[in-house]
Amino acid sequence: MPRNVIEAIGNTPLIRLNKASDATGCEILGKAEFMNPGQSVKDRAGLFIIRDAEQRGLLRPGGVIVEGTAGNTGIGLTLVAKALGYRTVIVIPDTQSQEKKDTIKILGAELIEVPAVPYKNPNNYVKLSGRLAEQLARSEPNGAIWANQFDNVANRDGHIRTTAEEIWSQTGGKVDGFVSAVGTGGTLAGVAFGLKGKSNAVKIALADPLGAALFSFYTSGELKSDGSSITEGIGQGRITANLDGFTPDFSYQIPDEEALPIIFDLIQEEGLCVGGSTGINIAGAVRLARELGPGHTIVTILADYGTRYQSKLFNPEFLRGKNLPVPGWMEEKADISV
Ligand code: PMP
Repeated sequence: MPRNVIEAIGNTPLIRLNKASDATGCEILGKAEFMNPGQSVKDRAGLFIIRDAEQRGLLRPGGVIVEGTAGNTGIGLTLVAKALGYRTVIVIPDTQSQEKKDTIKILGAELIEVPAVPYKNPNNYVKLSGRLAEQLARSEPNGAIWANQFDNVANRDGHIRTTAEEIWSQTGGKVDGFVSAVGTGGTLAGVAFGLKGKSNAVKIALADPLGAALFSFYTSGELKSDGSSITEGIGQGRITANLDGFTPDFSYQIPDEEALPIIFDLIQEEGLCVGGSTGINIAGAVRLARELGPGHTIVTILADYGTRYQSKLFNPEFLRGKNLPVPGWMEEKADISV
Protein backbone atom coordinates (compact mmCIF):
# COMPACT_ATOMS: atom_id res chain seq x y z
CA MET A 1 0.00 0.00 0.00
CA PRO A 2 1.48 3.42 -0.90
CA ARG A 3 2.26 5.43 2.22
CA ASN A 4 2.07 8.75 0.41
CA VAL A 5 1.28 10.17 -3.01
CA ILE A 6 4.85 9.65 -4.22
CA GLU A 7 4.65 5.92 -3.72
CA ALA A 8 1.49 5.91 -5.85
CA ILE A 9 3.46 7.17 -8.88
CA GLY A 10 4.31 4.55 -11.52
CA ASN A 11 3.51 0.85 -11.77
CA THR A 12 0.68 1.79 -14.09
CA PRO A 13 -1.25 -0.97 -15.91
CA LEU A 14 -0.57 -1.93 -19.52
CA ILE A 15 -3.97 -2.04 -21.23
CA ARG A 16 -4.67 -3.85 -24.51
CA LEU A 17 -6.01 -1.39 -27.07
CA ASN A 18 -8.54 -3.65 -28.72
CA LYS A 19 -9.47 -1.73 -31.85
CA ALA A 20 -5.87 -0.91 -32.77
CA SER A 21 -4.76 -4.49 -32.00
CA ASP A 22 -7.55 -6.16 -33.95
CA ALA A 23 -7.07 -3.86 -36.95
CA THR A 24 -3.37 -4.69 -37.24
CA GLY A 25 -3.08 -8.28 -35.98
CA CYS A 26 -0.58 -7.03 -33.41
CA GLU A 27 -0.88 -6.63 -29.66
CA ILE A 28 -0.95 -2.86 -29.17
CA LEU A 29 -0.68 -2.08 -25.47
CA GLY A 30 -1.14 1.30 -23.79
CA LYS A 31 0.76 2.18 -20.63
CA ALA A 32 -1.97 3.87 -18.59
CA GLU A 33 0.00 6.88 -17.36
CA PHE A 34 -3.26 8.77 -16.77
CA MET A 35 -3.60 6.53 -13.70
CA ASN A 36 -0.75 8.32 -11.96
CA PRO A 37 -1.93 10.62 -9.10
CA GLY A 38 -1.56 13.72 -11.31
CA GLN A 39 -3.22 11.90 -14.23
CA SER A 40 -0.22 12.06 -16.56
CA VAL A 41 3.12 10.54 -17.48
CA LYS A 42 4.83 13.64 -16.11
CA ASP A 43 4.43 12.66 -12.45
CA ARG A 44 7.44 10.42 -13.04
CA ALA A 45 9.57 13.32 -14.29
CA GLY A 46 8.42 15.50 -11.37
CA LEU A 47 9.43 12.85 -8.87
CA PHE A 48 12.81 12.01 -10.40
CA ILE A 49 13.79 15.65 -10.91
CA ILE A 50 13.01 16.50 -7.28
CA ARG A 51 14.73 13.40 -5.88
CA ASP A 52 17.81 14.10 -8.03
CA ALA A 53 17.98 17.71 -6.79
CA GLU A 54 17.71 16.48 -3.19
CA GLN A 55 20.48 13.95 -3.72
CA ARG A 56 22.72 16.63 -5.19
CA GLY A 57 22.04 18.82 -2.14
CA LEU A 58 20.46 21.54 -4.31
CA LEU A 59 17.05 21.57 -2.61
CA ARG A 60 16.69 22.73 0.97
CA PRO A 61 13.60 22.11 3.17
CA GLY A 62 10.97 24.71 2.27
CA GLY A 63 12.81 25.52 -0.97
CA VAL A 64 11.11 26.62 -4.19
CA ILE A 65 11.00 24.64 -7.43
CA VAL A 66 10.50 26.72 -10.57
CA GLU A 67 9.50 25.24 -13.91
CA GLY A 68 8.26 26.15 -17.38
CA THR A 69 5.71 23.58 -18.53
CA ALA A 70 2.81 22.89 -20.85
CA GLY A 71 1.04 21.89 -17.63
CA ASN A 72 1.48 18.25 -16.81
CA THR A 73 4.99 18.62 -15.39
CA GLY A 74 3.69 21.49 -13.28
CA ILE A 75 1.05 19.16 -11.87
CA GLY A 76 3.53 16.32 -11.23
CA LEU A 77 6.15 18.58 -9.66
CA THR A 78 3.61 20.32 -7.46
CA LEU A 79 2.05 17.22 -5.98
CA VAL A 80 5.46 15.73 -5.22
CA ALA A 81 6.60 19.08 -3.81
CA LYS A 82 3.55 19.26 -1.54
CA ALA A 83 4.25 15.79 -0.19
CA LEU A 84 7.86 16.72 0.58
CA GLY A 85 7.43 20.26 1.91
CA TYR A 86 8.56 22.36 -1.06
CA ARG A 87 6.81 25.15 -2.98
CA THR A 88 6.43 25.45 -6.73
CA VAL A 89 6.27 28.37 -9.14
CA ILE A 90 4.97 27.25 -12.52
CA VAL A 91 5.30 29.22 -15.78
CA ILE A 92 2.85 28.15 -18.50
CA PRO A 93 2.14 29.43 -22.03
CA ASP A 94 -1.37 30.92 -22.18
CA THR A 95 -2.32 28.60 -25.07
CA GLN A 96 -2.51 25.54 -22.80
CA SER A 97 -5.84 24.17 -21.59
CA GLN A 98 -7.68 25.97 -18.79
CA GLU A 99 -8.22 22.63 -17.06
CA LYS A 100 -4.47 22.09 -16.64
CA LYS A 101 -4.01 25.65 -15.34
CA ASP A 102 -6.86 25.16 -12.87
CA THR A 103 -5.39 21.87 -11.63
CA ILE A 104 -2.00 23.51 -11.02
CA LYS A 105 -3.69 26.26 -9.01
CA ILE A 106 -5.86 23.82 -7.02
CA LEU A 107 -2.71 21.92 -6.07
CA GLY A 108 -1.35 25.12 -4.57
CA ALA A 109 1.34 26.17 -7.02
CA GLU A 110 1.96 29.77 -7.90
CA LEU A 111 0.96 29.93 -11.57
CA ILE A 112 2.36 32.48 -14.00
CA GLU A 113 0.74 32.59 -17.44
CA VAL A 114 2.84 34.05 -20.24
CA PRO A 115 2.25 34.64 -23.97
CA ALA A 116 3.23 31.64 -26.10
CA VAL A 117 6.30 32.64 -28.14
CA PRO A 118 8.91 30.46 -29.91
CA TYR A 119 11.92 29.06 -28.06
CA LYS A 120 14.33 31.46 -29.78
CA ASN A 121 12.48 34.42 -28.20
CA PRO A 122 14.04 35.38 -24.82
CA ASN A 123 10.50 35.58 -23.37
CA ASN A 124 9.71 31.96 -24.19
CA TYR A 125 8.19 30.27 -21.11
CA VAL A 126 11.13 27.88 -20.67
CA LYS A 127 13.72 30.68 -20.71
CA LEU A 128 11.56 32.88 -18.48
CA SER A 129 11.30 30.09 -15.92
CA GLY A 130 15.10 29.69 -15.90
CA ARG A 131 15.62 33.43 -15.26
CA LEU A 132 12.93 33.45 -12.58
CA ALA A 133 14.62 30.52 -10.82
CA GLU A 134 17.91 32.47 -10.76
CA GLN A 135 16.17 35.48 -9.21
CA LEU A 136 14.34 33.41 -6.61
CA ALA A 137 17.51 31.51 -5.71
CA ARG A 138 18.86 34.86 -4.51
CA SER A 139 15.73 36.22 -2.84
CA GLU A 140 14.04 33.16 -1.29
CA PRO A 141 15.10 32.36 2.31
CA ASN A 142 15.28 28.60 1.55
CA GLY A 143 16.59 28.98 -1.98
CA ALA A 144 15.12 27.94 -5.33
CA ILE A 145 16.00 25.55 -8.14
CA TRP A 146 15.03 25.31 -11.79
CA ALA A 147 13.58 21.87 -12.61
CA ASN A 148 14.60 22.35 -16.29
CA GLN A 149 12.77 19.22 -17.49
CA PHE A 150 13.91 19.62 -21.12
CA ASP A 151 17.63 19.50 -20.41
CA ASN A 152 17.67 17.77 -17.03
CA VAL A 153 18.34 14.09 -17.71
CA ALA A 154 16.94 13.08 -14.31
CA ASN A 155 13.70 13.15 -16.35
CA ARG A 156 14.94 10.53 -18.81
CA ASP A 157 16.60 8.48 -16.04
CA GLY A 158 13.20 8.14 -14.38
CA HIS A 159 11.89 6.45 -17.53
CA ILE A 160 14.96 4.23 -17.88
CA ARG A 161 14.60 3.10 -14.27
CA THR A 162 10.82 2.81 -14.00
CA THR A 163 8.75 2.99 -17.24
CA ALA A 164 11.07 0.79 -19.31
CA GLU A 165 11.53 -1.73 -16.47
CA GLU A 166 7.77 -1.93 -15.95
CA ILE A 167 7.10 -2.45 -19.68
CA TRP A 168 9.73 -5.17 -19.83
CA SER A 169 8.35 -7.07 -16.86
CA GLN A 170 4.66 -6.52 -17.76
CA THR A 171 5.23 -8.01 -21.23
CA GLY A 172 7.51 -10.75 -19.89
CA GLY A 173 10.20 -9.39 -22.22
CA LYS A 174 7.95 -9.95 -25.21
CA VAL A 175 7.99 -6.46 -26.63
CA ASP A 176 8.89 -5.76 -30.25
CA GLY A 177 8.31 -2.04 -30.48
CA PHE A 178 7.77 1.16 -28.53
CA VAL A 179 6.29 4.39 -29.90
CA SER A 180 5.77 7.83 -28.43
CA ALA A 181 5.59 11.52 -29.17
CA VAL A 182 8.13 13.94 -27.71
CA GLY A 183 7.78 16.92 -25.43
CA THR A 184 11.05 16.87 -23.53
CA GLY A 185 12.03 13.49 -24.99
CA GLY A 186 12.31 12.01 -21.49
CA THR A 187 9.70 9.34 -22.19
CA LEU A 188 10.77 8.32 -25.69
CA ALA A 189 14.54 8.38 -25.17
CA GLY A 190 14.32 6.98 -21.62
CA VAL A 191 12.11 4.03 -22.55
CA ALA A 192 14.19 3.50 -25.71
CA PHE A 193 17.47 3.33 -23.77
CA GLY A 194 15.88 1.12 -21.12
CA LEU A 195 14.36 -1.36 -23.56
CA LYS A 196 17.34 -1.43 -25.93
CA GLY A 197 19.47 -2.19 -22.88
CA LYS A 198 17.37 -5.35 -22.44
CA SER A 199 17.18 -6.30 -26.12
CA ASN A 200 18.67 -4.48 -29.06
CA ALA A 201 15.96 -5.99 -31.28
CA VAL A 202 13.23 -3.72 -29.84
CA LYS A 203 12.25 -1.14 -32.48
CA ILE A 204 11.69 2.45 -31.39
CA ALA A 205 9.49 4.90 -33.27
CA LEU A 206 8.90 8.63 -32.94
CA ALA A 207 5.30 9.75 -33.48
CA ASP A 208 5.39 13.49 -34.21
CA PRO A 209 2.43 15.80 -34.87
CA LEU A 210 2.24 16.75 -38.56
CA GLY A 211 4.76 19.45 -39.41
CA ALA A 212 6.74 19.19 -36.14
CA ALA A 213 10.50 19.57 -36.27
CA LEU A 214 11.77 16.23 -34.95
CA PHE A 215 10.23 14.21 -37.78
CA SER A 216 12.03 16.53 -40.16
CA PHE A 217 15.26 16.20 -38.16
CA TYR A 218 15.30 12.40 -37.98
CA THR A 219 14.32 11.97 -41.64
CA SER A 220 16.26 14.83 -43.31
CA GLY A 221 18.70 16.12 -40.68
CA GLU A 222 17.01 19.51 -40.61
CA LEU A 223 14.99 20.98 -37.71
CA LYS A 224 12.16 22.52 -39.73
CA SER A 225 8.60 22.99 -38.50
CA ASP A 226 5.36 24.24 -40.06
CA GLY A 227 2.69 22.46 -38.05
CA SER A 228 -0.48 23.59 -36.30
CA SER A 229 -1.55 20.56 -34.26
CA ILE A 230 -4.06 21.11 -31.45
CA THR A 231 -2.24 18.54 -29.30
CA GLU A 232 -0.54 19.86 -26.17
CA GLY A 233 2.75 18.95 -24.50
CA ILE A 234 4.40 17.55 -27.63
CA GLY A 235 6.00 18.71 -30.88
CA GLN A 236 9.55 19.60 -29.79
CA GLY A 237 11.57 22.03 -31.92
CA ARG A 238 15.10 21.19 -30.81
CA ILE A 239 17.36 18.35 -29.66
CA THR A 240 17.03 18.57 -25.89
CA ALA A 241 19.58 17.02 -23.53
CA ASN A 242 17.04 14.25 -22.91
CA LEU A 243 17.19 13.39 -26.65
CA ASP A 244 20.99 13.49 -26.74
CA GLY A 245 22.43 10.25 -28.14
CA PHE A 246 19.00 8.96 -29.18
CA THR A 247 17.91 8.05 -32.71
CA PRO A 248 14.58 6.39 -33.53
CA ASP A 249 14.42 3.38 -35.85
CA PHE A 250 11.30 4.84 -37.48
CA SER A 251 9.70 8.29 -37.53
CA TYR A 252 6.09 9.08 -38.35
CA GLN A 253 4.23 12.36 -38.68
CA ILE A 254 0.60 12.17 -37.71
CA PRO A 255 -2.09 14.70 -38.69
CA ASP A 256 -4.71 15.60 -36.07
CA GLU A 257 -7.33 14.21 -38.48
CA GLU A 258 -5.76 10.78 -37.95
CA ALA A 259 -5.21 11.08 -34.20
CA LEU A 260 -8.54 12.52 -33.08
CA PRO A 261 -10.87 9.77 -34.37
CA ILE A 262 -8.69 7.29 -32.47
CA ILE A 263 -9.32 9.19 -29.24
CA PHE A 264 -13.03 9.55 -29.88
CA ASP A 265 -13.45 5.84 -30.69
CA LEU A 266 -11.39 4.87 -27.65
CA ILE A 267 -13.89 6.59 -25.38
CA GLN A 268 -16.98 5.30 -27.15
CA GLU A 269 -15.82 1.74 -27.74
CA GLU A 270 -13.29 1.01 -24.98
CA GLY A 271 -14.09 3.44 -22.15
CA LEU A 272 -10.62 4.94 -22.24
CA CYS A 273 -10.58 8.74 -22.01
CA VAL A 274 -7.25 10.26 -23.04
CA GLY A 275 -5.73 13.51 -24.29
CA GLY A 276 -4.56 14.53 -27.76
CA SER A 277 -0.94 13.40 -27.52
CA THR A 278 -2.20 9.88 -26.83
CA GLY A 279 -4.02 9.93 -30.18
CA ILE A 280 -0.70 10.72 -31.86
CA ASN A 281 0.94 7.90 -29.87
CA ILE A 282 -1.65 5.28 -30.82
CA ALA A 283 -1.67 6.36 -34.47
CA GLY A 284 2.11 5.91 -34.38
CA ALA A 285 1.72 2.47 -32.81
CA VAL A 286 -0.66 1.45 -35.60
CA ARG A 287 1.85 2.61 -38.20
CA LEU A 288 4.66 0.67 -36.51
CA ALA A 289 2.40 -2.40 -36.33
CA ARG A 290 1.85 -2.15 -40.11
CA GLU A 291 5.60 -1.70 -40.60
CA LEU A 292 6.53 -4.78 -38.53
CA GLY A 293 3.57 -6.93 -39.62
CA PRO A 294 1.08 -9.05 -37.64
CA GLY A 295 2.05 -10.98 -34.51
CA HIS A 296 4.17 -8.29 -32.87
CA THR A 297 3.73 -6.61 -29.50
CA ILE A 298 3.92 -2.84 -29.53
CA VAL A 299 3.72 -0.59 -26.49
CA THR A 300 2.79 3.08 -26.41
CA ILE A 301 1.90 5.67 -23.78
CA LEU A 302 -1.57 6.77 -22.68
CA ALA A 303 -0.05 10.08 -21.62
CA ASP A 304 -2.84 11.89 -19.78
CA TYR A 305 -6.56 11.88 -18.99
CA GLY A 306 -9.02 13.39 -21.45
CA THR A 307 -11.05 15.58 -19.07
CA ARG A 308 -7.97 17.80 -19.02
CA TYR A 309 -9.06 18.93 -22.53
CA GLN A 310 -12.82 19.17 -22.12
CA SER A 311 -12.85 22.76 -23.37
CA LYS A 312 -10.86 21.89 -26.49
CA LEU A 313 -10.74 18.31 -27.77
CA PHE A 314 -14.24 17.57 -26.53
CA ASN A 315 -15.78 20.89 -27.46
CA PRO A 316 -17.55 20.84 -30.87
CA GLU A 317 -17.16 24.61 -31.30
CA PHE A 318 -13.44 24.45 -30.71
CA LEU A 319 -13.05 21.57 -33.16
CA ARG A 320 -15.14 23.33 -35.84
CA GLY A 321 -13.05 26.48 -35.36
CA LYS A 322 -9.99 24.41 -36.25
CA ASN A 323 -11.73 22.76 -39.22
CA LEU A 324 -11.53 19.38 -37.51
CA PRO A 325 -14.27 16.76 -37.78
CA VAL A 326 -16.79 16.59 -34.90
CA PRO A 327 -18.08 13.10 -34.09
CA GLY A 328 -21.89 12.87 -34.10
CA TRP A 329 -22.18 11.61 -30.51
CA MET A 330 -20.50 14.72 -29.19
CA GLU A 331 -23.50 16.83 -30.19
CA GLU A 332 -26.26 14.37 -29.33
CA LYS A 333 -28.46 15.26 -26.41
CA ALA A 334 -29.74 12.53 -24.09
CA ASP A 335 -33.45 11.96 -24.72
CA ILE A 336 -34.15 10.33 -21.40
CA SER A 337 -36.60 12.13 -19.15
CA VAL A 338 -37.36 11.35 -15.54
N1 PMP B 1 1.91 13.99 -23.69
C1 PMP B 1 1.55 14.95 -22.83
C2 PMP B 1 0.10 15.21 -22.62
C3 PMP B 1 2.52 15.70 -22.16
O1 PMP B 1 2.16 16.67 -21.30
C4 PMP B 1 3.89 15.43 -22.41
C5 PMP B 1 4.96 16.21 -21.71
N2 PMP B 1 5.01 17.57 -22.03
C6 PMP B 1 4.22 14.44 -23.33
C7 PMP B 1 3.19 13.72 -23.94
C8 PMP B 1 5.63 14.14 -23.71
O2 PMP B 1 6.41 13.58 -22.71
P1 PMP B 1 7.96 13.86 -22.62
O3 PMP B 1 8.15 15.23 -22.02
O4 PMP B 1 8.47 12.80 -21.73
O5 PMP B 1 8.55 13.82 -23.99
